[in-house]
Amino acid sequence: MSVVISAPHDGYDRNTGRIAELMSSALYGNPDLAVTMKGRKIGKVDINRPGNTEESKQAFEAYMKKVEEVSKKVKSKEGLGALLQGYDDTFLVEIHGKKNTSGKQGYIEIATKGMSKKEEQFIKDLLYEGVKFEKERTFKEEGKRVGWIDEKGVGDAEIVFRASKAKEEGSFSKVGKGIHVELGAKLRVSPHNPDKLTLEGRCVHRALTAAIAVYSGLTPKGKSIQKTFNHLQSYSRK
Ligand SMILES: [Zn+2]
Repeated sequence: MSVVISAPHDGYDRNTGRIAELMSSALYGNPDLAVTMKGRKIGKVDINRPGNTEESKQAFEAYMKKVEEVSKKVKSKEGLGALLQGYDDTFLVEIHGKKNTSGKQGYIEIATKGMSKKEEQFIKDLLYEGVKFEKERTFKEEGKRVGWIDEKGVGDAEIVFRASKAKEEGSFSKVGKGIHVELGAKLRVSPHNPDKLTLEGRCVHRALTAAIAVYSGLTPKGKSIQKTFNHLQSYSRK
């Protein structure tokens, strides 16, 4: 399985490109294996959907070409070759932004493509476990308490999984499997410095990366989140 992390609306969905690069660094030791497009939703142009105009169609095609290029690079990457051989499908992870709703601090919505209920439950459990692990690790190693994230999605940050129908005509129609992730503004942008991620945001995308690594078989041995976090050593803690 070739995992491609992508932020099609970087520049509009603030800091999503940075998150995609951090995730790609952690998975492959290379931020350039993330797809970041300065695309945005303006009028009829939406980079991850073909839309109805020629301009929109071209933007979408350029985006998918980039996804394909990166997917090929990921497959041929040294060291991962053995793990990835035999899979010609791409697991697309699209990172998007979402405005916070109903006064909640953060919001995480995940829609899946091509995953069975069992696989969905697997990645969901991994994500919850990852958030729990990352909260504890951050406190132990950095002495910082991650606030308002509840790994079961019952706190101020809600983790919602939704089967995706709306994604059928866009980028997710082209790939076998994938997840579409929407992160609330407070998980992407620090109120004090818009270029920085919040502690809670770091916690969530690290957990997400670990869940993806376990789900897609990118971890060397064992399937535990803890081992995966240890394996993801190149992960920037900034
Ligand atoms: Zn978006």
